[in-house]
Amino acid sequence: MISVLRNISSLARCCEAGGQSDLHAVARAALVWEGPTIRWVGAEAELPAEYRAITSFDARGCLVVPGLIDCHTHLGFGGWRSNEFVQRSLGWSYHDIQFAGGGIHASVAATRAATEEELFTRSENFLREIVRLGVSTVECKSGYGLNDPTEQKLLRVYARLAAAGPVKIVSTFLGAHVIPIEYRDRRSEYVDLLIDETIPAVARDRLATCCDVFVDAAAFTIDEARRILRAGSRAGLAPKMHADQLSWGGGAELAAEVKAISADHLEYASDAGIAAMSARGVVAVTLPLATLYLRQRSVPARKLIDAGVAVAVATDFNPGSAPSYHLPLAMTLACVLQSMSPAEAVKGATLYAARAIGIEARAGSLESGKAADFAMIDAPSVEHWLYHFRPNACLMTVIDGSIRWLDSERLETRMSDQGTLPTFT
Ligand SMILES: [Zn+2]
Repeated sequence: MISVLRNISSLARCCEAGGQSDLHAVARAALVWEGPTIRWVGAEAELPAEYRAITSFDARGCLVVPGLIDCHTHLGFGGWRSNEFVQRSLGWSYHDIQFAGGGIHASVAATRAATEEELFTRSENFLREIVRLGVSTVECKSGYGLNDPTEQKLLRVYARLAAAGPVKIVSTFLGAHVIPIEYRDRRSEYVDLLIDETIPAVARDRLATCCDVFVDAAAFTIDEARRILRAGSRAGLAPKMHADQLSWGGGAELAAEVKAISADHLEYASDAGIAAMSARGVVAVTLPLATLYLRQRSVPARKLIDAGVAVAVATDFNPGSAPSYHLPLAMTLACVLQSMSPAEAVKGATLYAARAIGIEARAGSLESGKAADFAMIDAPSVEHWLYHFRPNACLMTVIDGSIRWLDSERLETRMSDQGTLPTFT
């Protein structure tokens, strides 16, 4: 079935050409899709004759952007850690909390204790909220299991969520999140286990498409990360990194060396590391919610962009340092904290986010032949959307051509002059 959306005030196509701030916006636009695929995008006045006779949906002057892509989350976990929010408010540091038995280790204990069904239901509930924000794809990391049964439990949950909807899922294996407590005095054994057994098994069973490592004084060294990421690459898993978050550790440099698809965090990335990332085409994923909650210095986003690095924006949703899955809030914070323009934040949460998780060929921009994933926003422009922050400005989310979220009540209150209102099909 062919569908036509008309009366769009501005449509941000977010194509590959140009730089971070080039959204290839079309004013007074229309969008045509057939089943799960976009067929035509352009000015409504130029809508081809073959589509004019089709009953069209009325966007009522909304902004339309590609479906947002949250390219860095830790979606599946047991328990919460609101106690650490209090500790941090009182001045405890990330490492103070971790060394006192909190942090990632606390979530590992709670996640090991949770059943697969509990984790599935909870994650599905998160996604039902997330899709309402205009998000069409979520990257989900394991990493709160740190043993084979629990890591596989998390990755199975993500596979089930991918099949069940409402959003698309990209799974990342993060067995190298921290050294599990039971391996504290024999860390090399844990690294060998990941390399020799766990990573090949995850790849063989197609439980993930990416492999991530947290490089930090309280997590993995550069040399350990290099070995783990190379093992992942050999198995067919694309390398990603948590790099230079709490201090400089050579993470950006290693990301370039192993040709990672992304290096994430980067608050303390060096100039040499940034230059190396640019030369190798590594996407920088910035996580301003974590920067805010940890009260850290901001990511040098301007320096990254000026160096030619594509800068993606994501939430880092997790129970400790970023307990929010609100991607539009992260985008507004990227403007406020990281000196990115609204246009740059939008490209960072669409095309460049798709690139950071290896799905750019199918998602991230509104172009003929790509997936019909888009969000209809109650704002006249991307600038107005991210400036006038509200709990939710998204009125409709379409994924693979199907409406997955629609706020018909608010849509009805907007002025209309074109066609019928969209409805759930
Ligand atoms: Zn993370």
